[in-house]
Amino acid sequence: MSQLDFLSELGIDSDNLGGYSSGWLGSGDNLESTTPVDGSTIASVKQCTTENYNSIVSNSKKVFRKWRMEPAPKRGEVVRLLGEEFRKYKEPLGKLISWEMGKIQAEGEGEVQEMIDITDFAVGLSRQLYGKTMHSERPLHRMYEQWHPLGNIGIITAFNFPGAVWAWNAMIAAVCGNTMVWKPSSKTPLTAVAIQKIVNRVMEPLGWDGVMNLMIGRGREVGDLMINDRSFPLVSATGSCDMGRKVGTAVSKRLGRSLLELGGNNAIIVMDDADIEMAMSAILFGAVGTTGQRCTSTRRIFLQKGIADKFTEKLTNTYKQVRIGNPLDSSTLMGPLVDTSARDTYVQAIETIKNEGGEILYGGNIIDGDGCFVEPTLVQANSEMSIVREETFAPILYIFSFDDLDSAIDMHNSVDQGLSSSIFTSNVSAMEEFLSHRGSDCGIANVNIGTSGAEIGGAFGGEKDTGGGREAGSDSWKVYMRRQTNTINWSSNLPLAQGIEFNLD
Ligand code: NAD
Repeated sequence: MSQLDFLSELGIDSDNLGGYSSGWLGSGDNLESTTPVDGSTIASVKQCTTENYNSIVSNSKKVFRKWRMEPAPKRGEVVRLLGEEFRKYKEPLGKLISWEMGKIQAEGEGEVQEMIDITDFAVGLSRQLYGKTMHSERPLHRMYEQWHPLGNIGIITAFNFPGAVWAWNAMIAAVCGNTMVWKPSSKTPLTAVAIQKIVNRVMEPLGWDGVMNLMIGRGREVGDLMINDRSFPLVSATGSCDMGRKVGTAVSKRLGRSLLELGGNNAIIVMDDADIEMAMSAILFGAVGTTGQRCTSTRRIFLQKGIADKFTEKLTNTYKQVRIGNPLDSSTLMGPLVDTSARDTYVQAIETIKNEGGEILYGGNIIDGDGCFVEPTLVQANSEMSIVREETFAPILYIFSFDDLDSAIDMHNSVDQGLSSSIFTSNVSAMEEFLSHRGSDCGIANVNIGTSGAEIGGAFGGEKDTGGGREAGSDSWKVYMRRQTNTINWSSNLPLAQGIEFNLD
């Protein structure tokens, strides 16, 4: 059996994926998908041209007019069937994610599980798109609000969660009655093609092709067309802060709505009274998991002075045991970075760390060979270093020490990003302080849990340069719908609000 049998299980057996399949049209230049494990090409995919773009968008707008008429619980039933199909392909799709972007198989399959979980959530939600009823100040009047589908939604996704981020958006947008067009990262086109094939298998027989559409192409080309296109009332964009600034500016210029899920610079505070083993495991998974390429990856840790030296020594020993290698090998804990440009960014960051006076305690080197493997890196940092304020998308962890919680929170909040944060402590006051309005300034704040690995039931997203968007659970669905306030007068008079009299006599 070949290591890459999962490709044929997913129906990816051609060297030249493109042409027309429902919801996906590509007749432009080839884009090669390569694996960061050894740099070899997996397959090539045809990208969208401007004509392809126009044809996909005009078809999905047409389909929207039918899809919005389907009752929400029936749309939920379609999403339930999608979830069933994702369950069947959990292993091969998880393996493809690992092979195409480098995360280990357990995390690749975990990502598909997240896709399944959000379908379950969306099915329930399809019967709970509640609006409020208010008491009117006028007699015999009824006032209430309803939530209507928004239209054809644009979804732009990053390489590091090539399936889950699409699913977070797509499943909720679908039960809300929207059609959508997905522009995935050009670093992970095959995962997108494999997912679209699964979608087509469910949607085509039901007559719902065109609800979920795929458009592969460069951010600066098809992405640019989408963000400037007034026919997309909402563009949900996940990626770097730089990308978010461009997308946010273009969409707001045409007074559209954007949902931005951007970079993080996540930190964990470890107090003297913390459970050290638990904190150590959370930091290892947070900093090394997905090769440091999660938006919620742990990038900074703040250790209270009483435990700082011992903790650092123990963490350094733990780092020595991280097994690096083929992400499909079950003993591997850390796979490669996504590509050679990510590896170059790592090399430049190490250079800057040294120039800025950071002390490399472990790692700092690339691993020779055709793959994009690097060592997980621990740095004794100081607050003067400017690089600690940036999100370097690689397994580099900065260690700081502190005296009291107030100063730790100040350092914690001193960066531009505001996604995920944690404190490890057994002291109830410290927990509450961290979660209070003068504590963490992030969209996600955890106690005795690391920064990465969110559940889909909560609203996911961050503040400040992370963009302010919220996806997945809680009431995040509201951004995919438009609110309408309705007042019905069932009396035989026309009283005006605020008691205003406006009569001719
Ligand atoms: P990226 O910004 O390079 O690309 C993200 C997506 O934006 C890609 O599909 C890309 O083609 C597209 N894009 C780029 N320029 C565009 C433009 N001008 N118009 C339209 N689309 C454009 O990010 P990446 O390297 O793929 O992913 C890593 C980044 O994503 C990190 O910063 C990470 O923190 C962030 N991220 C955030 C979240 C979150 O939920 N907050 C989740 C995952 C990743």
